[in-house]
Amino acid sequence: MTAPTLKPMTDATHRAAQPPTAGLAAPFDSAILATYKRAPVEFVRGSGVHLYDAEGKAYLDFVGGIAVNALGYDDPQLKAAMHAAVDGLIHTSNLYSTSPGERLASALVSRSFADKVFFCNSGAEANEGAFKFARRWARTLGDAKHEIVALRGAFHGRLFGTLAATDRPGYRLPFRPLTPGISIFERDLAELDAALSEDTVAALIVEPVQGEGGVRVLDAGFLRELRAVTASRNIALILDEIQCGMGRTGTLFAYEQIGLVPDMVTLAKPIAGGLPMGAILMTDAIAATIKPGDHGTTFGGGPFVSSVALHVLDRLSDPALLAHVREMGAWFGKQLNEIAHRTSRIRQVRGVGLMWGIDVMGTAAHVVSEALGRGLLVCSAGDYTVRMLPPLVSTQDELLRGLQILEEVL
Ligand code: PLP
Repeated sequence: MTAPTLKPMTDATHRAAQPPTAGLAAPFDSAILATYKRAPVEFVRGSGVHLYDAEGKAYLDFVGGIAVNALGYDDPQLKAAMHAAVDGLIHTSNLYSTSPGERLASALVSRSFADKVFFCNSGAEANEGAFKFARRWARTLGDAKHEIVALRGAFHGRLFGTLAATDRPGYRLPFRPLTPGISIFERDLAELDAALSEDTVAALIVEPVQGEGGVRVLDAGFLRELRAVTASRNIALILDEIQCGMGRTGTLFAYEQIGLVPDMVTLAKPIAGGLPMGAILMTDAIAATIKPGDHGTTFGGGPFVSSVALHVLDRLSDPALLAHVREMGAWFGKQLNEIAHRTSRIRQVRGVGLMWGIDVMGTAAHVVSEALGRGLLVCSAGDYTVRMLPPLVSTQDELLRGLQILEEVL
């Protein structure tokens, strides 16, 4: 038998796969693979909610490392925690226990619905692990119970399992065939009710606030209904709180405001103050089905990153900070609606806490690039949505300044 020849991508399919950030030219030749279209600026330092380029120009940062830099830049307490962590163990492997990892897992358990935690290194890795755990658990209930269901507009990552649960044709199409057993359904109760078969479906994965999909706050009643349906059919409900969790919506976990108890929650982005870390929180019912060897990762939950994450968790659980996020969030949304009214350049305002999206007239890429020129960093979430994820420590004055620049741009 002759080996099949690989068909090269055509220009058209290749272009369709690119993130929609047209207009921001690459500033220089780079040896880094161009999986991102980088903005024409190079940052050399940061302080509070500002980044600075080599010429000393300040940029007010409403991207926050894409929801990673919740405490802003150069935070003295976070730096102290990192310095202290450097003096301890850096890595031992998961063949041995270390105190920071144990303490971090206990702290997450004591602050959440969960009984056990698995640590990894990124958001996509957390969701991949959650899919495996869901299948491992579901197979104890029935041999055919393995399907994973995701929702229209979802973004769960770009590895093979998570890509199949990510609803962006440009990201998916060039990498077909995608992992089987993972499907996307409309955010519609009747359709989901029909799709969620007790015999075949292992898990439903949902972002309480869809981030990359355009900052869509899913209706709490809809989510509670989904919880009821999944619970009655022995289907695991996985909440992807990688972007909307850890204080971003004004409570440590977004699910607290919805009034439901999930089976698993995945976390990443801000959890370790800018160091790579992901986590899967789960109930005992799921954890009890996982045996040594079922899953693993070399770096997950190492002592260095866990020490830093312990500090971050403490800071992001602070009731005063969470109250600040709720208060600033309500005010920010009101301001965006007023800007929409004054400029007539915004079709819709969506968001909660310090996670906001505006659908603009024209392209989001154009607004992103104009804002950059005026010293404000915002990013896109789809072709027409401008997304704002300012550090959770942003003051009202800093938020107001950013809104003024945004209004000028619009
Ligand atoms: N899930 C959500 C909701 C996200 O927003 C992201 C990243 O943007 C991911 C998963 C993937 O995370 P990572 O880029 O760390 O793999």
